[in-house]
Amino acid sequence: MKVTDVLVIGAGPSGTIAASIIKKAGYDVTIVEKLHFPRFVIGESLLPRCMEALDEAGFLDAVKAQGFQEKFGAKFVLNNNDICDFNFNEKHTTGYDWTWQVPRADFDKTLADECEKMGITVHYDAEVTDIKINDDESSVTSVTMQDGTTEQFQAKFIVDGSGFGRVITKLFGLEKDSNLPPRQTLFTHYVDKNRDQVAQEPNRITVYVYNHNTWVWCIPFSNGITSLGFVGFPEFFSTLTGTPEENIKHLVDSHPELKERFGDCEMAFDPKELKSWSATTEKFYGNGFVLTGNVTEFLDPMFSSGVTLASVSAQKAAHLVIRKLKHEAVDWETEYMQPCMQGVNVFRTFVMGWYDGDLHTIFFSKNQSEDMRKQICSVLAGYVWDDTNPFVRNHQKQVKTLAKFIKETQREKAEA
Ligand SMILES: Cc1cc2nc3c(=O)[nH]c(=O)nc-3n(C[C@H](O)[C@H](O)[C@H](O)COP(=O)(O)OP(=O)(O)OC[C@H]3O[C@@H](n4cnc5c(N)ncnc54)[C@H](O)[C@@H]3O)c2cc1C
Repeated sequence: MKVTDVLVIGAGPSGTIAASIIKKAGYDVTIVEKLHFPRFVIGESLLPRCMEALDEAGFLDAVKAQGFQEKFGAKFVLNNNDICDFNFNEKHTTGYDWTWQVPRADFDKTLADECEKMGITVHYDAEVTDIKINDDESSVTSVTMQDGTTEQFQAKFIVDGSGFGRVITKLFGLEKDSNLPPRQTLFTHYVDKNRDQVAQEPNRITVYVYNHNTWVWCIPFSNGITSLGFVGFPEFFSTLTGTPEENIKHLVDSHPELKERFGDCEMAFDPKELKSWSATTEKFYGNGFVLTGNVTEFLDPMFSSGVTLASVSAQKAAHLVIRKLKHEAVDWETEYMQPCMQGVNVFRTFVMGWYDGDLHTIFFSKNQSEDMRKQICSVLAGYVWDDTNPFVRNHQKQVKTLAKFIKETQREKAEA
């Protein structure tokens, strides 16, 4: 039996950030990770708010040293005339105004290596298969190790950062349906040889509207590779009849700007398909455990909220776990679940507003108010806990009312 204070499941951003903050408070931490690192995972465009969590975890210098592409904004393109470009330095909330665009294999490996340097043991190829929680909240976790043997890990507390593995959610029957409909993606990495000729700035994510319900992410990395992915409803993808490679080529060639940039570029790997990723969990905590990152709720790739919600939930969870280990009282509902849900719900409104067209109306309207741009920019930078921002405090009402007002004004102008 291996004994540790805190067992962390998963070495993604949420697992490593939680592990590091708890270790820095003086506790013994062990990470068990199912895969061998570096491993591919999607989720490459970060938001400025996650820098605060990376900073507190002590990871910023190591990440800076990797020379990843710096990211200063997000650009939305409907067509040549309708472009909405947000620079994070114009945001309403004080805080970081930049971040990175990262190949996640390298980024996640950097964070996990930093954990090891701090004295955290990271077991790779180590898959959690079972967890028993004792009456005193301590636990015994069964892990299938690299050599095929099963090891037992005894811990005072567990942080589940297992991403789409959703370990505790599945083992303890906490799964809950998402209120978002299933969506799908087809994506690859291009060797972006035309980047300079098409004068497309690499220092931001560009989101192209492909059609009403389908959009494209374009995320340049500093190594000359650009991540490109089409996202839409399954019905859209079911009309494509070729191989994934033929289908993505067909989609790129059918869009003039994408064709000019990527039409003759090589793909770094065969395109991948993913579908139905939205998922949530009944409760983000329980006796002896807390869930972080994607295990709590994952919404959608639109607005790149995943790693930021994962990082911030890990940061919050780590502080509460430290208090638990000091035998202090923690109200997980109000101190953890509610703040996590506040962030998720602001992004939910934005994701839904994108797909129902309200945010197209707002982003591509002419004569935008400066305040409105600053406030929306804060949300796009991941600052979704700042109640001084009306797009945080009253997110649903604010998006709906503004879109309605713009549509009415446009109708009146057209009729005049
Ligand atoms: C199509 C798509 C595009 C996206 N784009 C973006 C984006 O641009 N920006 C963004 O911020 N987010 C994006 N995301 C979301 C992003 O991928 C996730 O939110 C993020 O990776 C979550 O981090 P995490 O630490 O919670 O989980 P992960 O990064 O998934 O890490 C979890 C780890 O747990 C391990 N694990 C799983 N099961 C077990 C087990 N049984 N035992 C031990 N270990 C286990 C896994 O191997 C994995 O390494 C996207 C998601 C999708 C689906």
